Amino acid sequence: MSQLSDDEIQRYSRQIVLPEIGVEGQELIKRSKVCIVGIGGLGSPVAQQLAGLGVGHLRLVDRDIVSLTDLHRQHLFSTKDIGRTKVEVAAEKLSELNPSINIEPLPVPIAHYTVEGIVDGMDVIVDCMDSINARYLVNRACLKKRIPYVYGAAIQTYGTAFTVLPNQSACLECIYPGLNDTDLPRCAVAGVEPSILSIVAGVQVSEVLRIITKKRPLLINDLLFIELSSLSFDHIKVKRRNECEACGDIQNIIIPRTENSFEVGCARDGSGVYFITPTSPKKLDLARLSKKIKQMNNGRITKSRFSIAFNVEKGIRLNILETGVCIAQVEFPILDQRAIQSRLTTLYNALTSN
Ligand SMILES: [Zn+2]
Repeated sequence: MSQLSDDEIQRYSRQIVLPEIGVEGQELIKRSKVCIVGIGGLGSPVAQQLAGLGVGHLRLVDRDIVSLTDLHRQHLFSTKDIGRTKVEVAAEKLSELNPSINIEPLPVPIAHYTVEGIVDGMDVIVDCMDSINARYLVNRACLKKRIPYVYGAAIQTYGTAFTVLPNQSACLECIYPGLNDTDLPRCAVAGVEPSILSIVAGVQVSEVLRIITKKRPLLINDLLFIELSSLSFDHIKVKRRNECEACGDIQNIIIPRTENSFEVGCARDGSGVYFITPTSPKKLDLARLSKKIKQMNNGRITKSRFSIAFNVEKGIRLNILETGVCIAQVEFPILDQRAIQSRLTTLYNALTSN
């Protein structure tokens, strides 16, 4: 007896008819739990495809808000969504696309104290982030919990993807050891053509689909490199390294502490953007914080499900999430980075201390 309702059989009929999926495959898809980390350029199309396919449980992880500069490539979001947390908007849109699946929006930062909880209980993790430091943490959490991990990245006109089966194949740090975010190009500076994102996202979804329907993924020990200018797909063989700091000693995976709480984000909408991330778990009472802000400056507060936004002083707009993450938009020319860091940190501490 099939576990699929008549509605489900009809909804998914165009994929059930495929010999690679069938009714059995569709039931496996329905029972699967997939976590997408990063709901941006890659995460948006990955989330839309997985929701459409009928993945039974989708966990969406992102601590960012929607910006005007996201909209040329992140088609899950609309102009009216600017300023709201990405996971909140994504959860709404994906529920409209497919009301029969569970969607779990998590507006949390990737930190040593969150990362194991983020991957826990999932069948596969899809890495759609743009920070190598955050990717390292997720890769290690997946190794520790023995959860398959599907990597994807894209910038300018090229993209890459590969899959890690913990303790079986090369992990992220076997392939890209010792990198730092400050050494790598970011979308805001280098740019990205939207079409490369759809291609890489499609490859990631195909790998996820193989994993959840009990087939062997194809990008194991195999780095796929895609370049739009020649429309080439090259496969680069990679190997697990015994001396890898992440997976070399698979019984003792170390999740390093995230110490850096202040981060300069990609400039957007003509302003500077800064993230403040707590270095230990935080749960803010947003109603209480709103009262405090009203007493301070009587300003208008925009509330949404996971965050509040307000102008704290002229030219500085803060979005504060209940997880303690603060996204600061500074709308004047920044001459002294250290001065702005000190100002924002002082404001943040004043608002979030008890
Ligand atoms: Zn490794």
